[in-house]
Amino acid sequence: MLIRYGELGLKGGNRHIFENALCRNLVSALGPLPGLKTKRVRGRILVHADSPLEDHVNRAAKVFGVTSVSPVKEVYLDHDLMIKTAMEQLACTLTEDFPGQTKIPFRVTVNRSNKSFPYRSREMVLTLAEAAMTKYDSLEVNLKHAELELEVDIREEQALIFARRIQGPGGLPVGTLGRGMTLLSGGIDSPVAAWMGMKRGLRMEFVSFYSFPHTGPQSREKIIRLAEKLDEWQPRTVLHIVPFAPYQEAIRDYCNPAYRTVLYRRAMTRIACRLSGRRRCKALITGESLGQVASQTLQNIATIEDASTLPILRPLIGMDKIEAISRAREIGTYDLSNLPAPDCCTVFQPDSPVLFASKEEARAAEAVLDLDKLTLDAIQSAEKLELS
Ligand code: ATP
Ligand code: MG
Repeated sequence: MLIRYGELGLKGGNRHIFENALCRNLVSALGPLPGLKTKRVRGRILVHADSPLEDHVNRAAKVFGVTSVSPVKEVYLDHDLMIKTAMEQLACTLTEDFPGQTKIPFRVTVNRSNKSFPYRSREMVLTLAEAAMTKYDSLEVNLKHAELELEVDIREEQALIFARRIQGPGGLPVGTLGRGMTLLSGGIDSPVAAWMGMKRGLRMEFVSFYSFPHTGPQSREKIIRLAEKLDEWQPRTVLHIVPFAPYQEAIRDYCNPAYRTVLYRRAMTRIACRLSGRRRCKALITGESLGQVASQTLQNIATIEDASTLPILRPLIGMDKIEAISRAREIGTYDLSNLPAPDCCTVFQPDSPVLFASKEEARAAEAVLDLDKLTLDAIQSAEKLELS
C-alpha cells in the first residue's frame, strides 16, 4: 500500500516527527498484521505486510495526515509481467472508481530509479499507454488533468504498480499537537468538533456528563457508541463518563434557576479542566457554535469560559447547523447522534434561561456552593473507559 501525505511535508526540521507519528498511527490502524512495516520512499510511505493489504485500504484512508492511499502490486522486473499487472490494476480501478464512465482523463507515469532496467521510462510509458488505450476506449490521454493515473515505480528488484487512489482525510497525524479533551454530548456538534480537533493533530480524550437517574441509561450507551465511532479515527481512545446529577442537584437547590444552564456549563468546564490536568490534556474542545442555542450567545460563551483554566477550542464556531450535519454524515456520527436519549442539560431546565449572563452574575449565583468539593467528587465518581 502506498500512502501520500500532504501538509506534514512542509514542517521543515520537524518533518521526521510528523512522519514517524504518521507511520505509527498507520501501523496501529492496520494492525495487528503479520510482517506489517512501513518505509519512507521519496516523500511517500510504503506499507508492507506478509498478506495482501487491499482489504485494509479503507482503514488507512481514515488516518489523519494521509491525503491518499493506493493499493500496490509488487512484481519482479519482467517486462511482460509488468504490463500484464498494470492492465489488471487498471481494470480494477475502472470498475471500482469509474463505472460506466467514458472519456476518463488518463496518464501513465513511470519512475525508473533502477537505471539498469533495460527499458527507459519513456519507452515504458509509451508501451503502457498504448496497451491501455487499445484495451479500454474509455481512456483519454490528459497529462495535465488526469483523473486516472497509472503509475509504475521500477526499483532495484521489484516494480510497484498502482492505479487506484482512495482519498484520505488530510490534516496532521493524531498526537503530534498534544492532547485535547472534548466535552462530548450526545448531540450532533461535539462529535464533529472532536473529529476536527483530531484532524489538526490532537490526540483526543472525551469527557461526557450524564445525569442518572434523572436521565436513563440510554444516554450512557449512546455516548459509548459515539466514542467508539470516533475511535475509528485515532488509536486507543479514552472516554470519561462523569455522573453529573449531584452537582446539578446542588445548583437546582441553591442557585437562581434562570442561571441553571450557564452554571451547568461552568460546572462541566471546571470538571473537564481538572480532569485534563490529570490526563495531560492542554485544551478543551466543545461543539459550540455562535448563536445556536441560548447558552451560545457571545456573552454566555464568555461567562462559561470564565470557569476554565485551559484554552477552549470551538472548531464549529462559524458553522451553520447544516454544515455540521453534513460533516457528521461524512464521518459516520450522524445516525448515532440522532438516537433518542435526553441530554443532562435539559434536566431541571428553567422556562426562560438567561441569554446574557455576565460572569459576575454567574459567580455570584454559584458563590453559595462548595465548587471545589463538587468538582472533586464528580471526578472521583467518574468512570474511565478505554476503547479499542
Ligand atoms: P451538541 O450537538 O454538541 O450537543 P448543542 O448544539 O446541543 O451541541 P449545547 O447543548 O449548548 O449545544 O452544548 C454545547 C457544547 O457543550 C456541546 O457541543 C458539548 O461540547 C458540551 N456539552 C453539552 N452537554 C454535554 C454533556 N452532557 N457532556 C459533555 N459535554 C457536553
Ligand atoms: Mg447538546
